[in-house]
Amino acid sequence: MTETFDIAIVGAGITGCAIARQLARFDLSICVVEAANDIAMGASKANGGLVHAGYDPAPGTVKAQVNARGCELYGTWSQELGFLFCRTGSMVLGFNDEDRAHLEQLRCNGLANGVPELSIVGPDRIHELEPRASADATCALWCPSTGFVDPFEVAIAALENAVANGVTFMRSAPVEAIEVAGLDDGVARFTLATPVGNVRCRYLINAAGNGAADISHMAGAEEFQMVWRQGNIVVLDKEPRTLMPLYPVPTPVSKGVIVTGTVHGNTVITATAAVRESGDTQTYANDVNALLSGARKLVPDLDTRRVVRAFAGGRPVIQGTNDFFIGQSAVVPRLFQAAGIQSPGVASAPAIAERMEHVMRDAGVKLHERADWNPIRRAPDDFDRAPLARKEELIESDPAWGQIVCRCETVPEAEIVAAIRRQPGAVSVEGVKRRCRAGMGRCQSGFCQSRVVAILARELDCDPSEVPLEDTGSWLVEGPLKGVR
Ligand SMILES: Cc1cc2nc3c(=O)[nH]c(=O)nc-3n(C[C@H](O)[C@H](O)[C@H](O)COP(=O)(O)OP(=O)(O)OC[C@H]3O[C@@H](n4cnc5c(N)ncnc54)[C@H](O)[C@@H]3O)c2cc1C
Repeated sequence: MTETFDIAIVGAGITGCAIARQLARFDLSICVVEAANDIAMGASKANGGLVHAGYDPAPGTVKAQVNARGCELYGTWSQELGFLFCRTGSMVLGFNDEDRAHLEQLRCNGLANGVPELSIVGPDRIHELEPRASADATCALWCPSTGFVDPFEVAIAALENAVANGVTFMRSAPVEAIEVAGLDDGVARFTLATPVGNVRCRYLINAAGNGAADISHMAGAEEFQMVWRQGNIVVLDKEPRTLMPLYPVPTPVSKGVIVTGTVHGNTVITATAAVRESGDTQTYANDVNALLSGARKLVPDLDTRRVVRAFAGGRPVIQGTNDFFIGQSAVVPRLFQAAGIQSPGVASAPAIAERMEHVMRDAGVKLHERADWNPIRRAPDDFDRAPLARKEELIESDPAWGQIVCRCETVPEAEIVAAIRRQPGAVSVEGVKRRCRAGMGRCQSGFCQSRVVAILARELDCDPSEVPLEDTGSWLVEGPLKGVR
């Protein structure tokens, strides 16, 4: 089977989904081709979710431009797409004169990058802004524009909006080969071969994260190598008050160990940085210890016994550069690269999408806005956060809203069903978790996993043994499930 589109985007991480959403407003047919069985299955599911403000990338780099702009765009994107975004502001804590000099340098970088309202503050202001910040901090860079999101919620919301505007999502479709034809306007230039069918397109966008070098190579474009800059992260149980993101003075390769609240009230300690074998998502005791001790330096009263989860991901870094590669290929016209989107790819995603639109226009791609484009995605009902009156209304409409499946996060059966029926919907236990938080709480799905498997099996009309934990093949169940309806 071969399907033809104007544009194919390879990769449904936050970069590919944001680009799909940006381009969905134009009168073009678009397909997002993803190797895994769901959205946000690469680096986009394993990061700190921080919308960094953009004061640390070196001025003049692509990163610097898209980071500050991305942070700015998050306000509009969160409103239009109905995802949670907390713009709490952040502080980089300094403990001595050397740190203070570094903070001053960061402030100058930030000014050059267009980051608004940066200032250096002293101990009194530090404790006014975040009472739990270390009393040993003598100075801090206060940055009001920093915020945080749930990164997979952003990717899912962007792609849902794109799909509602006519974009096709092809999952479980790893691109294995690319054929490139001549530059004739009337015919498809690229043919992507995947195990579930071929995709032909006039324009190709490479947003394949850690697979970006392979896509570029398959298309005969720029040759580069990806480096898997791995990071461990730990998540702590919910706190009565959400912590403002607190950063240490950065190192040359990373922002160091950051402590931050999340949109759901947990605390996250993020992230280590070590070059490891591609695909390594193991957590390492040394890394976790480094996270815990780094966090205690910033927030001494942090109860690090409250860790509910540790995980790891790999930043997609292009070997030999610390910058993003966003532009038309210099070798293969009509191939557009959004490669090397290492940190801060989450913070930059809306601006990467905007930049991709400009790059394509400059390359002569005709982008005509559709009259029926709808930028709004209504957020699905979140039972736990809903006011009492809405909870009662939902239960009245369907008693399954009153059947709590995940007790830690108060997720009822109807919310799980909605997560599966959304477009594109969940097809795995983790896909349900990313959409509605069932299994995300302190018991980490100990109580609800078998119920979620049963609901998925019922909704997808398959046997529980065919329901994966995550990607296809990660089966959970061998025999009949006991005691689940
Ligand atoms: C530990 C850690 C912490 C981080 N913290 C932050 C943070 O707090 N703030 C921030 O801004 N950034 C952070 N980042 C960076 C951020 O996660 C990445 O920049 C971002 O997720 C990259 O998104 P992407 O869509 O480009 O790549 P990915 O999310 O990796 O998506 C690429 C997609 O392409 C698919 N793909 C690959 N090859 C193929 C193929 N051949 N065919 C089809 N599909 C293919 C993959 O399956 C994948 O789904 C962090 C990263 C890590 C690892």
